[in-house]
Formats: sequence, structure tokens, C-alpha cells
Amino acid sequence: MNLEFYTNLKQELDSKGITLVAVSKTKPNELILELYNQGQRIFGENRVQELVTKHEHLPQDIQWHMIGHLQKNKVKYIAPFIKLIHSVDNFELAKRIHKEALKNERVIDILLQIKIASEETKSGFEFSHLENVLHQILALNAIRIRGVMGMGTFTDQVEITEKEFKLLNDSFKTLKQQHFSKTPSFDTISMGMSGDYKIAIECGSSMVRIGSLLFGAR
Ligand SMILES: *Cc1c(COP(=O)(O)O)cnc(C)c1O
Repeated sequence: MNLEFYTNLKQELDSKGITLVAVSKTKPNELILELYNQGQRIFGENRVQELVTKHEHLPQDIQWHMIGHLQKNKVKYIAPFIKLIHSVDNFELAKRIHKEALKNERVIDILLQIKIASEETKSGFEFSHLENVLHQILALNAIRIRGVMGMGTFTDQVEITEKEFKLLNDSFKTLKQQHFSKTPSFDTISMGMSGDYKIAIECGSSMVRIGSLLFGAR
């Protein structure tokens, strides 16, 4: 656990109005509590079972974010408490989240995951396809679209990452202009991980998802 890094990072992010999601996947509750005791409240996980177990055992004022690929049939387990789902990448999933939100009498915040990397392994909406389904997603009144999320190509070539993050920022701006100009809550660009968060910040990120730099390698 790198508490000094946390303190410095938090200070930098706060001064820039950027939200930190501490990505705690695979890490034990004791480490999460250490960061919690430093004041961190937002934690991100990518597996439903692990997320549910941690939510049960850790302080109830933690805001849990789902950042990983989410299967429709597992939405019900996190719907009662999830604070933000970053990884909505198809309409069927959005519909299911809406349905489970209604059952729980709440509105669930989501991000639209957009495919910005050319790597096949990275999922997300193709921006051009998104336009076709967006009006259908907008009709689902128990979900609230807070913005976009993207994952850059795993590379040490800065120019590639930069290009992808700028693309995500452009996508956000286009959506904002065309569909959310009167929606102040459409305010989130989730981009940047341990390896590329500095580039993400330069490219306009409003939310970074950082795991290994805080908790150590997985
Ligand atoms: C694991 C993960 C992160 C954090 O990765 P680090 O490189 O450990 O910072 C961020 N976003 C997503 C979607 C992840 O799955």
C-alpha cells in the first residue's frame, strides 16, 4: 500500500476537480480499510461476486463502482447499492439495469463505455452505433447517463494513448452538445489507469481509475 502516493495523488486530483476511483479488485478488505481510513470513499471492482462480498463486509458509506464487463444476469446482485456502472456497452444491458433499478425503487447512474482502442479485447460501443441506440437508452428513466468511459490500448507509445483519449473526450463533447446540453449531470469522462492516468488528465479526464499504483501489483 502506497499511502504517500495516495496523499499526493489525491491532492493533485482534488486541485483539478478530478474524481479518484481506487480500484481494489483482488485486494483484501484490510488494504481497502487502510485507504478508507485515509478518507477514500470511492472504490472500483470488476467482478460482481467480489463486489457483493466486499460491500457486505466493509463500511456502508463506501461508494462502489462497477468498472468491469457486466453480464445481464448479474445486474440484480449489485442493483440495490451500486453507485456507478462504468461499463455499459450494449442496449440489452442498459435495459436490464433499468429493470433492476425499478425493482429497487432507485435510479442507477451509468457511463457509456466507448470503444477507443483498436485492440479486439477492449469492449464498448462503437461511437457510430451509439447514435442509433442512444434515444432508446434515454427512454429508460430508471438509469441516468452520467457520461462516458473508455480504456486505452495497452502500449508505451504515448501518441497512441493520446489519440484514443482525445477521441473519448470528443465523443463526450459531441454527446453533450447533441443530447445532454441541458443535463448538468452528464459530466463524467472516466479515463486513465495506473499506466496512463497522466495522459488522461491532460486529455480532459474527470475520473481516473487507479489500482496497482495504490495497492501494489496484482
Ligand atoms: C483493473 C482496472 C483498472 C485499474 O488498473 P491499474 O492498472 O491497476 O491501475 C482500471 N480500469 C479498469 C476497467 C480495470 O479493469
